[in-house]
Amino acid sequence: MSTLGKVLIIGSGLGGLTLARSLRGGAIDVAVFERDASPWDRPQGYRLHLDDDAVNAAREVLPGHLIALFEATSQFTEPFTAILSTDLSVVKRLPSHDDHGDHGDVWPDRGNSVHANVDRATLRQILMSGLDDVVHFGKKLERYENTADGVTAYFSDGTTAHGDVLVGADGVRSAVRAQRAPRLTTVDAGITAIYGRLPLDAARLRVPVEALTDIFAIASDDRKVFLGLGSVRFPTAPAKAAAHWSPGTAMRDQDDYVVCVVGGRHRFFPGADDLSGERLRDLAAGTVADWHGQAADLVRQGDAEAFFPVRMHTSVPGSLDAPTNVTLLGDAVHAMTPTLGRGANLAMRDAALLGRALRAVAAGDGELGEALSRYERDMTAYGFSVVREAARIGEQRMAQNPLPA
Ligand SMILES: Cc1cc2nc3c(=O)[nH]c(=O)nc-3n(C[C@H](O)[C@H](O)[C@H](O)COP(=O)(O)OP(=O)(O)OC[C@H]3O[C@@H](n4cnc5c(N)ncnc54)[C@H](O)[C@@H]3O)c2cc1C
Repeated sequence: MSTLGKVLIIGSGLGGLTLARSLRGGAIDVAVFERDASPWDRPQGYRLHLDDDAVNAAREVLPGHLIALFEATSQFTEPFTAILSTDLSVVKRLPSHDDHGDHGDVWPDRGNSVHANVDRATLRQILMSGLDDVVHFGKKLERYENTADGVTAYFSDGTTAHGDVLVGADGVRSAVRAQRAPRLTTVDAGITAIYGRLPLDAARLRVPVEALTDIFAIASDDRKVFLGLGSVRFPTAPAKAAAHWSPGTAMRDQDDYVVCVVGGRHRFFPGADDLSGERLRDLAAGTVADWHGQAADLVRQGDAEAFFPVRMHTSVPGSLDAPTNVTLLGDAVHAMTPTLGRGANLAMRDAALLGRALRAVAAGDGELGEALSRYERDMTAYGFSVVREAARIGEQRMAQNPLPA
């Protein structure tokens, strides 16, 4: 019999759902609480680059038929980033950094150095599939209280939930972190990015093939304004069809596409937060209009409605207070700028490792406090090292603010 009662997860992003799947696989009672009214309320980006952390986590927590769907809807890429000149010709192809610490311990039986471009909404649907009885929408956590027999969560609609453990998987502005680790902060990285989506065929006419087969392609100028491109292709017709199975996503969301992002210091994107998609597209294209060649024309091929702005934030590395039965994962604790494309990978890695720890406790192997303490020590050491590296590269390549000392 399980020695662990109910686990409450706040947030149904990639990390929260990966943990829910892992716990369900261990027959642990779990409930996920998501503030949004549905999975499709807010734009959250299009393409995601997954490396061996996320790919192995997905393979670990999903049942067989969903692993097959995950693989079928992933575009496994060459392990390079294409560096483009401002005329969009290829300058060089940088091998990806696959040195992610001691993966031998984390993924002993699995493949390393895997790279896949996936559609975020498709991945989220796959992780959520079959969890309808577990994920509760319209539940915004306001606060929690530790009690003699566990922890109680309080939601903005006046309801509560009680469990043995509460996990904050509630992203960069985490309400759980505000209580659990009030000294951990996030800061403005100084960068605005405008994300959009182009039809694959329009990109094929204007960019070299490497830009569509490597993990990502990026060009930047003397101002450190950058244009990034990453393709998402559903490799086979059946995979494309499979990606359509869930309601709530328009068919076109699942067609092959290329994500494009134009970014740089905030001053190059005045008023971006208040602009329509069409005006954001104009602003993004205008920002690279003096580049030689086709950059601005390429951006203008994007679907106007698809453009949205992101002001980038990063966590400031620090330490958690002493462990309790409330813990954190993913962006809620170590959010980073997307220079390394690793945020989702870390969220899913954390979730897989926390899932393993809780499953062991539920099976009577070890004590909860010790298991959470070990998880938090490893997760923060690894997570904050990647935050620092993302900030270092971000400073070099896109004039990101340095992390506060
Ligand atoms: C445009 C863009 C592109 C990116 N590209 C990549 C990439 O290529 N590769 C990569 O690895 N990473 C990428 N990232 C980073 C990645 O998206 C994040 O690191 C990842 O989503 C973190 O997952 P998470 O589960 O920790 O948090 P999230 O995915 O942010 O999920 C948090 C969830 O919690 C919910 N929530 C928040 N507050 C509350 C509350 N009070 N109560 C209840 N629910 C709440 C939110 O609605 C959300 O659903 C990108 C990020 C952006 C913005």
